[in-house]
This record gives sequence, structure tokens and C-alpha cells, in this order.
Amino acid sequence: MTATISKIIWLAFGIIWVILRQQPGRRARKTPVRYSARGAREFALLGASLSGLGIVPAAYVASHFPRFADYPVVPALSYLGIAVDVACLWLFYRTHRDLGHNWSVSLDLRERHTLVTTGVYALVRHPMYSGFWLMALAQVLLLPNWVAGPAGLVGFGILFFGRLRREEAMMIEAFGEEYRAYMRRTARVVPWLF
Ligand code: SAH
Repeated sequence: MTATISKIIWLAFGIIWVILRQQPGRRARKTPVRYSARGAREFALLGASLSGLGIVPAAYVASHFPRFADYPVVPALSYLGIAVDVACLWLFYRTHRDLGHNWSVSLDLRERHTLVTTGVYALVRHPMYSGFWLMALAQVLLLPNWVAGPAGLVGFGILFFGRLRREEAMMIEAFGEEYRAYMRRTARVVPWLF
């Protein structure tokens, strides 16, 4: 395992993830949005996440910037990164299947929005965000660079902590006691823990 191979693996998983999201994304967007909490704040949060999980690491893979932050590749970490990325892709596949037309890249409620509490949503109430945390972790493990590696944790962390409360408030507003009860019996992203 070399740094170059590890970077190519990071890129390959990114490409698979983008492909995997096309069809469910297209399908969900066919259902009109009836309420949206999008705005400048959501735009900034999405920008932070896209930068940390996409732009910064892609720039590093393409141009080796910032070189001063490199450290030698640790093969065991790269292999662990592959396993984490496989788990991440599986979770994205499952969450898209479970959410169906209710999915949105931001905070939207669609026509005929239903509250999903089955499948992976029976375990945690934000399994897609669990998937993003795994993606950020895999980035740390696969990219041997102190800036590009952790950038995903920072970028997605900003989105996660900046959005979660508003998303849950929106769901309570829409589903009331049904969502409150769902909150009482599930953790956010780590089963039984958080
Ligand atoms: N936070 C969830 C979903 C992310 S997609 C997760 O991590 O799996 C964001 C959209 O999903 C939001 O606009 C919201 O309307 C919708 N959503 C979130 N939780 C939902 C649920 N349990 N059932 C149906 N829609 C949900």
C-alpha cells in the first residue's frame, strides 16, 4: 500500500458514492417539496460539508496540496479505511431505500411525506448522517495528510451540529407526538449511545 494507491481508493469510493446517489436522488426529486427550511444558513452548512468531504481532499489528491502536512502512509489504516468506506456505502444504499421519496439534500418536507421508522431507521434516527460520519472517518484513514484527512470530520461536523436541532424541530412540527416517541426510543447516529 502506497500513498498514491490509498488516494486512488479514496477517489474510487467517492465516485461510487456519487453514482449510487443518482437514481434515488432523481426519484425523490420527482416528488414536489411542500415545505422547505432552506436558506442562507443551510447553504453555508452544505458548503462546509462539501468543502471538507469533497473539495479539500480532491484538491489534495489532484495537486498534493498542502504537501507540508503529509505523513507516511500506514497500510493498516488504509485497509481499515476501505472497510469503513464499504460500510458507509452499504449504509447509504440502505438509507436511500428506506427513505425513498422523503429524501432531500437539505431540510425539506415533500408531498405525502411519511415518517420512516423502519429498516435502519429503527436503529437510529439519522442513519444517513451515520454514513457521512463513516465517510469522514474513512477519509482520515485513507489520506495521509493532516489537513486533507481530517477536513471531512470538520466539514461534516459543522453541517451535523449546525443542522440536527433544526431538522428535529421540523420533524416535530410535521409529525408531533409520533416523532417525539420515535426520538425517545432511538439514538441519533450511534445505536444506543448517541
Ligand atoms: N437525517 C436523516 C435524513 C437525512 S436526508 C438521516 O440522517 O438519515 C434529510 C431529509 O430527510 C430532511 O429534509 C427530512 O425531511 C427527511 N427526514 C429525516 N428523518 C426522516 C424520517 N425519519 N422519515 C422521513 N423523512 C425524514
